Parts: sequence; C-alpha cells; structure tokens
Amino acid sequence: MKAACAACGLTDDALDGYCRACGGIRLSGAPVPGRDELRPAQEPTPLRPSRVPGLEGVLLKLEGANPTGSFKDRVMRVLVGEAAGSGLRGAVVASSGNAAVAASAACAEAGLPLLVLIPAQTPPERVAPAALRGATVVRVPREISSVHALAGRLAGAFGLANLSSTFAAPGCEWACRQIGRELAEQLDRPVDVLVAPVSAGPVLVGAGRGLAEATGVLPVLVAAQASGCAPIAEAFDAGRAEVRPWTRPIATRAAAIADPLVAYPQDGTFTLAQVKAGGGFAAAVTDEELTAMRRELAVRDGADAELSSCAAPAVWRLAGRTGLGATVVCLLTGNGLKDTLTGPQEPGPSVAGYAEATGAGTRLAEEVQRWTGG
Ligand SMILES: [Zn+2]
Repeated sequence: MKAACAACGLTDDALDGYCRACGGIRLSGAPVPGRDELRPAQEPTPLRPSRVPGLEGVLLKLEGANPTGSFKDRVMRVLVGEAAGSGLRGAVVASSGNAAVAASAACAEAGLPLLVLIPAQTPPERVAPAALRGATVVRVPREISSVHALAGRLAGAFGLANLSSTFAAPGCEWACRQIGRELAEQLDRPVDVLVAPVSAGPVLVGAGRGLAEATGVLPVLVAAQASGCAPIAEAFDAGRAEVRPWTRPIATRAAAIADPLVAYPQDGTFTLAQVKAGGGFAAAVTDEELTAMRRELAVRDGADAELSSCAAPAVWRLAGRTGLGATVVCLLTGNGLKDTLTGPQEPGPSVAGYAEATGAGTRLAEEVQRWTGG
C-alpha cells in the first residue's frame, strides 16, 4: 500500500519508516472499495452507553473484545498481512504487551516466526500469551521507544518485518481507521468527541480519520495519558506545538501507554497537531484516578478494562468538557483480565452485603452460613 508524507507529500511504498525526504509521518490513502479490505475480518467490537456517574450516556467502545484482548489485533492483522504478502521470512515487534500478543496470534496464523522485544518494566504476564503462541520473547533493559528503535535496526539489518504500532508503520494508523468505520456503522448519528488513551497516538488519529472517511465529519479528538508518563499532555499544557521526549522516570502502572517517545517524539507532535486542529485537547490522570475508574467501569458497566484504557473515560470525566458535543465515544483499548488475574485482588462484597443489596435480609446470610458450615 502506498503512503504519502503528511509534511512534504512524497509518496512511497515502504512498509515502515518515516519519509526519506524530510523525516515526516507517512499516511496511507483512503481505502479503495473493491481493492482494500474495508471491514475487519471479524464481528465489530461492542459499543455501549456507560452508567458510571459523570459518564452517563458516554459510549464505550470495548476493544478488549478483540480476539487477543486489544485493538492491536486490528493493527497486526494488517501489518502481518503486508509482511506475508511481501515474502518476508520473519517479523520483529517492540511492545509493552498488547502488540506482542496480537502479533503472536497473527504470525501464528501466517506461519511467520516472531521475535518479541519488551521494555524493562513489562510485567511477565503481559507477554505470556505471546510465548504461548510460539513467539521468542526477549527483555531489553530500556524504555519502550528505545526498544522500538532496536526493532527497527534488526528489521533493517536482517530483512525482517518490523511490526511497529507507532506512526513508523503507515499500516498501523490505517488499521485503526477500522475503528472509526465500525463506529459509523454502529451509530445513526455523528460522533462529536472521540477520546482515546495514547502513547504515540495512531489509535486516536486513525479512528478519527476512519470516522471522517465514513461520515465526512471529523470528531473532536481528545488524547488521554497517565500523569506518570505524559509527554503529549505536557506539551499541550505548556502551549507548545512540539512534543518533547519524557525524561523523568516513568511513574505509572499504565504500561500500555507509558511511552516517553524518546526515539520518535515527532509521533507525539503529529498527534498533538491533529488534536489541536479540531479543537480537542490532551490531558493526563493519576494512577489513583485510573484505578478508581477501572473499578467503576467494572461495577457499573460490567467492563473489565485494562488500567491504561481507563485513561479515556477518566480524562473525559475529570475535564468536564461536556460542551464539546453530545455524542462522546471513549475507546477502551484493551481488556483488563491480565491485570485482574495478577494485580491486587478485589474481595467483592460479603454475603451480608449481597443480602442487603437484594433485600433478602439476614435470613439469607444465615441460610448460606448454615449450608457452608461457616
Ligand atoms: Zn516528507
């Protein structure tokens, strides 16, 4: 697929890398009916109104319902498809978890050997599903954007596909447009505001462009980050056009969006420009706010979203910018099951609490106790 530089317009068909003339971000053209795959090869992910206080009526797009639990399945289906179509013999992916697992599934299907490079702070359970699918997993004692740089070097030196889920691979942003096209099919009205957790930002930019391609209306874009690593939100707050690499320690458990953009700050700058152009904003929330939102989404909406995903609804609620539009969609980019099974366990209410909630009274609690010998 051809991609054109967003800065100088140079067209190129390389699968990954920035513009070779000016270093700019390359974007694929709009899909052509009959030539490009317009729909995902699976059922759409659910879209549901939230019942969380402060988010009533906000629509949650549950990307955790994708086969390996995150929107990265959409990305890897496209990138691995391109790699297999080009006759490459193997693939490499830099990932803090979700991209690695999605890549391992797509590579398993395509019969392509996969090397997974993970940054220092990645919890082992985040990549266990990739190892299960036969991927070779190597921990690199650096932060994520340096790991991306290593993946790029290995891919270039050994003729491997670099399954990059940043703007370095035009197919990544292009794949994320599926989310926007799907939203257009699921809704009978335009989306006014689209909120997404971002590290580099292709998911937000891509979903927005997909909506614009399908409906002619680009929503207001809101970039949500974790305050322990928030280079884009920091630049927005400072009124800077340019995103600078995050140089302080990474102080968040939101691993999927903890990207200091050290090796590719231009990705953040590009995303920030798209956000500002449409009147949107970038903001960050603390891990305490993420954790509180995660619990509320689970209890009120039955949604187990991974901690990073909770940045979207948490930022939207905290900002209180309801004047931006009536139809608001928050992308919950990943499933929380990994966090749930390995993180601090929530005890849940006692039998007495259940009896009170149902109005069954103390007799129910006594009956349960009698049968369970407590
Ligand atoms: Zn260029």
